Amino acid sequence: MRKVSEKNVHRRIALERIDRLFELAQAIFSREPALADRYVAIARKIQTRFKVRMPRELKGRFCKKCGAYWAPGKTVRIRTREGKVVYFCLRCKGYRRIPTKD
Ligand SMILES: [Zn+2]
Repeated sequence: MRKVSEKNVHRRIALERIDRLFELAQAIFSREPALADRYVAIARKIQTRFKVRMPRELKGRFCKKCGAYWAPGKTVRIRTREGKVVYFCLRCKGYRRIPTKD
């Protein structure tokens, strides 16, 4: 049986926690947007600490620049153009393009 390294276990747990934080952020956003941002900050801290990559489905959920939790129509505007998704952060007024496939 393959021995699972401790590092991998930690990373898996880190990813689960990140996932959970975004769920919480989504749930709380309408009532407490500031708290949603806080969850994003914690998720990013976990990401850095455990050196895990942000899962692709979460990349379009927050602003890398200002750390805002992205709620479509509220803190972010999303447009699709030429196979790319363009995010416009309404908080810091910054554009960000994310390829739909890479
Ligand atoms: Zn921003």
